[in-house]
Amino acid sequence: MVSAFPLVRTASPLPADQRAAILDAPGFGLHFTDHMAFASWTPEAGWHDRRIQALQPFSLHPSAAVLHYAQEIFEGLKAYRHADGSVWLFRPESNARRFRRSAERMRLPQLPEQDFFASIEALIRADEPWVPAGTGTVSLYLRPFMFAAEAFLGVRPSRRVVYSVIACPAQPYFNPGGVTLWVSTTYTRAAVGGTGAAKCGGNYGASLAAQTEAERHGCDQVLYVDGADEEACIEESGAMNLFFVTTRGELVTPALGTILEGITRDTVLMLASEFGLTPVERAVPLAELRAGLADGTVTEVFAAGTAAVITPVTGIKGDGYAFMIGGGKPGELSLALRERILDIQYGRVADTHGWLRSVV
Ligand SMILES: *Cc1c(COP(=O)(O)O)cnc(C)c1O
Repeated sequence: MVSAFPLVRTASPLPADQRAAILDAPGFGLHFTDHMAFASWTPEAGWHDRRIQALQPFSLHPSAAVLHYAQEIFEGLKAYRHADGSVWLFRPESNARRFRRSAERMRLPQLPEQDFFASIEALIRADEPWVPAGTGTVSLYLRPFMFAAEAFLGVRPSRRVVYSVIACPAQPYFNPGGVTLWVSTTYTRAAVGGTGAAKCGGNYGASLAAQTEAERHGCDQVLYVDGADEEACIEESGAMNLFFVTTRGELVTPALGTILEGITRDTVLMLASEFGLTPVERAVPLAELRAGLADGTVTEVFAAGTAAVITPVTGIKGDGYAFMIGGGKPGELSLALRERILDIQYGRVADTHGWLRSVV
């Protein structure tokens, strides 16, 4: 089969011994593979110039629209190497669909799903030696993104757009001891009608002040709520969706709307019943969570996202209150769900949901 993204192989790949040293301790988002996917769009030509090429800087005019108006979206997914050497993606159709929804919200052009798959799979094949093997938690993190590249000042959708995919070997972005969250009443992440449900860079730029506030209060990350009043409801953690386990056997998570529709979130909801939990999506008032933490009816809290899979939350602090959760230790169900998802992703248990897609 001829790839829609033909490979123009780099003349200077990283020497194998240097690549091996990186794969031994990749960290997260620090070291990038030899190649990148690239495609260009204009209203006249549509998507064109598709290729896999050497990883290289973009050349952008200083007036390029993305630099001024943040017309940009992205995705995040991982390629997993199984024990037999094969390489797989986890639910990539969901990433492709979400990328299209984000594009719609940010008035960027639609990337056909077959281009999303072809670009990612061609990049993985070109950089296959970069997919880590072995320990069953390392992976190749893929970052598809799209941005307004037209040179002009003025607020309208760009008439030149670039799509690209870069890749980096990644350790799980996971703190085994769990994380603590700061409930910010200074900053919100999203509002009804805003961009909260789109995976766009601007949401993250706006989150940095809240993150700094959380760190100032001795917490690892932010817990966003949708207002400062008594009825304020829980949203998410800015890069991860939130879950609460109750003594009634419920696994509760805020309903969709202004939060990002996480694929890990959906996976957790679909697996809940296998752990004897009833999945519940609804509005969760902060007051209810605080009461549940105070009287012990909320037994576990965790955050879910591709980078960290599942991160136990061991403490929640806000203005005038602080709760330790599970005696400051990760919850049993949180860790069991985490293990199950990893087992499916790494092919250690049967993929009964049809979530894996073969690449190599
Ligand atoms: C990507 C993201 C998540 C997690 O989504 P996954 O598909 O599970 O990785 C949660 N919140 C925000 C704001 C995100 O950008």
